Amino acid sequence: MTLQLSKSDILGIRNRLEIKGQAFIDGRFVDAASGETFDNISPRDGQVIAKVAACDTADVDRAVTAARRAFEAGVWRDRSPKERKKVLQRFAALFEKHMDELAVLETLDMGKPISESRTIDVNVVLDTLEWYAECPDKLYDEIAPTGPNQLAIITREPVGVVGAVVPWNFPMLMATWKLAPALAMGNSVILKPAEQSPLTAIRMAELAAEAGIPDGVFNVVPGFGPTAGKAMGMHMDIDCLAFTGSGGVGKLFLQYAGQSNMKRVYLECGGKSPNIILDDVPELRAAAERAATAICFNQGEVCVAPSRLILSERIQDQFLDIVVDTAKSIRPGDPLDPETKLGALVEDGHRSRVESYIAKGREEGARLVLGGERPETGLDGYYVNPTIFADVKNSMTIAREEIFGPVLSAITVKDDEEAVRVANDTNYGLAAAVWTRDLSRAHKISRKLRAGSVWVNCYDHGDVTVPFGGFKQSGNGRDKSLHALDKYTELKTTWIEL
Ligand code: NAD
Repeated sequence: MTLQLSKSDILGIRNRLEIKGQAFIDGRFVDAASGETFDNISPRDGQVIAKVAACDTADVDRAVTAARRAFEAGVWRDRSPKERKKVLQRFAALFEKHMDELAVLETLDMGKPISESRTIDVNVVLDTLEWYAECPDKLYDEIAPTGPNQLAIITREPVGVVGAVVPWNFPMLMATWKLAPALAMGNSVILKPAEQSPLTAIRMAELAAEAGIPDGVFNVVPGFGPTAGKAMGMHMDIDCLAFTGSGGVGKLFLQYAGQSNMKRVYLECGGKSPNIILDDVPELRAAAERAATAICFNQGEVCVAPSRLILSERIQDQFLDIVVDTAKSIRPGDPLDPETKLGALVEDGHRSRVESYIAKGREEGARLVLGGERPETGLDGYYVNPTIFADVKNSMTIAREEIFGPVLSAITVKDDEEAVRVANDTNYGLAAAVWTRDLSRAHKISRKLRAGSVWVNCYDHGDVTVPFGGFKQSGNGRDKSLHALDKYTELKTTWIEL
């Protein structure tokens, strides 16, 4: 899909934005109980774009009380499935009406190019909202095949109060992957957006209320991780905590659950995904161009970024030349410019972190073949050039840790066996890809890859109809598809002796 907005359209939308930074609790905008706010800085130019409520334990308590009250009163879960569907469809329609505005807000808030936020992010959010809106009146429960004198009915019931804690790389999308299935199943939801990117979540809560989601059913509490996020993890009255973010914080949520009410915890964490290019890669040029565009997509701030390029030694030189040429042409620039393909990293501290990995790659002996430095963009934001390392060993830090920037590590292998061994030699297991003309070879390798998504001759393809999530330390549970509903429901057996 191509961007239909011109530069002047985008600036017009930007100038008309009414940015709201309050929390949204029990159907109303409210300040944090403490009155505290924090500066929301745009990574595009380092300017403050909003003051945002710094919610803390007291605000999380308020939101949980409202969410629980709504749940117990049945104002949402006891509505007929058809009625819930209609409200969620209205929510999706309102979202669609405001997609230009939401895309600009997302770009300002976290630095991704408008050419992506308007053609990818908002469309995928809309798909997700529409798809889960259709679920409530299409799902049937079960009757178990017990003996002739019993009737055992298995019903799916909402889990109750769902907390969602999400990251900044796809703020609206990560939130929607949680809230759409949770609301469809009749739960109350409390969403804590990342402190770097709270604005679209706040706007979505307003649209949800306008669509008719009852007070208390969808709340947004912006704030920091160790305060608002921890308060959610430790809360005794949140039944389920759905998290997307780093592995370190994911582990904290498991601890919080153990220290509090044993709430169900579902984690979508990081990745160090292998992109395996075999010697019979079909359309070598296209595959190499994709390897470059995929690592630059969303500035490399993508959990499934193909950050380890695993190359068969027979084609490595030819392949890498094209990757380098393609990446060289992807110049960082103003995210609000419709021509820009690579925006700003989310914050200055994150840029420093990415740069420290680049320094580490050099120190440990990888060969820098592109980038590594800051570009000249004329803006005071947080930009970094696409960076490629060759001769990387899988034991090097840049091949083991998630960098979350446009930094690619190319690793050479001799054969399929070594490719699989290197691919699986990681703590993560989110995604992987293999490129080959040979279907049997593709299947055999795919079966051996320990990852939640495996792409064959493509990268990062997806749809709301397929589950998304990871093996190993990439997490547990799945977002998207009907499988996501398992996280937000409890199964109940009602046994009737006839
Ligand atoms: P992060 O873990 O730092 O933060 C994620 C969320 O957790 C934020 O809302 C943050 O405020 C909160 N948080 C931070 N510290 C906390 C604490 N001590 N207690 C409670 N909450 C806390 O992650 P990030 O930097 O925002 O996002 C990048 C990470 O997200 C990467 O590791 C990336 O791979 C991962 N990610 C995973 C997926 C997936 O689906 N697997 C998708 C997108 C991003």
